[in-house]
Amino acid sequence: MGRDGRLSEAGSRSRHPDQAPEHLGPGPVRTCVGCRARDLAARLVRVALADAAAEPSAVVIDTARRLPGRGAWLHPDPKCLDLAERRRAFARALRVPGPVDTRAVRERLEAPRPAQTPGTGPG
Ligand SMILES: [Zn+2]
Repeated sequence: MGRDGRLSEAGSRSRHPDQAPEHLGPGPVRTCVGCRARDLAARLVRVALADAAAEPSAVVIDTARRLPGRGAWLHPDPKCLDLAERRRAFARALRVPGPVDTRAVRERLEAPRPAQTPGTGPG
């Protein structure tokens, strides 16, 4: 009764880990460092070190996905940021020793969405 069948996940076929699950649709898949859920890269934001030499390390949302170095993927959701902070996921994902300053990321996530032109499109 102490059997622990965690080795093989439910699902018989061997799936390629980088392949998008069918319910997500086509495209590259990343794992959110906050909630650890896999999702399309297009639905996550890339978080990277703003300045590798800065102390403490500060991260920003890499909108253009062009910052050098390692990146962490996160849902654009303050809850996921909370989870990532609690688990020190950024320090681990970005390979930095100390605490990571996530204020810039939080400000972006908690800021109201950019105003869209009202009155256009089907409501
Ligand atoms: Zn998440």
